[in-house]
Amino acid sequence: MSIALTAPLPTSDALRTRVRESLAAVGASVELGEPGAHGLPASTPITGDVLFSIPSSTVAQTDEAIAAAAHAFSAWRTTPAPVRGALVARLGQLLVEHKADLAALVTVEAGKITSEALGEVQEMIDICEFAVGLSRQLYGRTIASERPGHRLMETWHPLGVVGVITAFNFPVAVWAWNTAVALVCGDTVVWKPSELTPLTAVACQALIERACADVGAPVDVSQLVLGEREVGEKLVDDPRVALVSATGSVRMGREVGPRVAARFGRSLLELGGNNGAIVTPAADLDLAVRGIVFSAAGTAGQRCTTLRRLLVHSSVADEVVSRIEAAYRQLPVGDPFAEGTLVGPLIHERSYRDMVGALQQAEAEGGSVTGGQRVDVGDDAGADAFYVTPAVVRMPAQTAVVHEETFAPILYVMTYETLDEAIALNNAVPQGLSSSIFTLDVREAERFLAADGSDCGIANVNIGTSGAEIGGAFGGEKETGGGRESGSDAWKAYMRRATNTVNYSSELPLAQGVHFG
Ligand code: NAD
Repeated sequence: MSIALTAPLPTSDALRTRVRESLAAVGASVELGEPGAHGLPASTPITGDVLFSIPSSTVAQTDEAIAAAAHAFSAWRTTPAPVRGALVARLGQLLVEHKADLAALVTVEAGKITSEALGEVQEMIDICEFAVGLSRQLYGRTIASERPGHRLMETWHPLGVVGVITAFNFPVAVWAWNTAVALVCGDTVVWKPSELTPLTAVACQALIERACADVGAPVDVSQLVLGEREVGEKLVDDPRVALVSATGSVRMGREVGPRVAARFGRSLLELGGNNGAIVTPAADLDLAVRGIVFSAAGTAGQRCTTLRRLLVHSSVADEVVSRIEAAYRQLPVGDPFAEGTLVGPLIHERSYRDMVGALQQAEAEGGSVTGGQRVDVGDDAGADAFYVTPAVVRMPAQTAVVHEETFAPILYVMTYETLDEAIALNNAVPQGLSSSIFTLDVREAERFLAADGSDCGIANVNIGTSGAEIGGAFGGEKETGGGRESGSDAWKAYMRRATNTVNYSSELPLAQGVHFG
């Protein structure tokens, strides 16, 4: 089709050089084999090629990593929390120093545009800062005891080994959210990144190992295992792994959640979203359109918080849709490294096929599609790369296809008449991650945030559904899994709580007035 790329795509050889340079800069040493050689393929969505083959972990090696993390835990849990914080502080410094190196790897492997890749590394730096502060304020409550001469309190203790399973689309930030907080909480970590982004993981592991060496912390507190789902399944089933923090699709969560529960382990699930935004007649439409376009088309629709459903009042629907469509026509699609590109590639062919399938289904269900075409990248590079224009689909109703998360830039638009109807539509999907309302009417905004408003873990006013800060707890309800990580008191998921009653009197009164003997 006729849409031009922002610039010619880089060659896979140029990307290989970039990877080698970035890995060398962070001090990572990994065997970079020829594509097709035995091991895990490290590929790039920029050209669609496999760049290298790298060694993957066997289940036996994963077992060893868990054993090493469990052994390290026995000393790490009694290391004072502020001393644990010093390790995370050093990691944060190294991330500042190597922000561009890590971001380049994120762009190569996940296809994020440079600005978003840098933003993802900044998120790692932010969570390190948060966790360092947290290391001096892990607190419990004291509670009024009903018995004289007694003190009742809660204390929080390290939990154990945390298994971290991550998705391709936030290949480094989600590891940092978990690891920075888990380490200051006194836990040790075994990380299984997405099989699609092993090189960024190798770079992160090199940085944490350097941080350990610099502050004299045991290197075994943070382990990396690379591989497909069977490596993740080892973490899921192993009773030495106290908490499995798993980020990915609802499908993955359906497998992981019950398996961890079957051994009475803890899980923290961060799964798919199907996020909605309401635009009321009282919205600032300039601001709304900007927020919508970033949330819906940014990261080529591959964020868990991507805006997928627009619920717009019928009186402003035509204007809002035509402004979004006009903005979409201006969005530069192409090489995520090229200056000016705003929409990079889809992660792989399957994503593209899913997008095509969803658009066909939407049309069959009465939708009318604008955009959503594959962009021709020429013959030289990128025959197996998938660049698309973001799609806007006007739907007559919130039909079956709209209830699914298709991990691509598709924005379904539905109209409504009353705010109650809009909130009901917002809540009528199985997922419950993020949501927002655009309105300058305080009553509408407060209604959206009230107990009978949005049922999502994130509910925003006058900003889009994506781009959360690390200071708040992040996660969602229903099929999104119910987990919370990152800021606020999400650290409590990484610790165990003990309730302590101390009797400092010389009597032994029993609770509830019970007399015994
Ligand atoms: P995915 O579910 O295919 O894979 C995620 C991870 O789970 C990978 O590391 C994979 O190897 C592993 N895995 C898959 N099945 C497993 C099993 N049975 N046992 C153990 N591990 C298993 O997801 P993806 O395609 O990489 O990422 C996209 C999905 O992730 C989207 O649905 C997106 O919404 C979701 N996501 C959610 C959040 C969040 O915070 N809620 C954040 C990022 C991505």
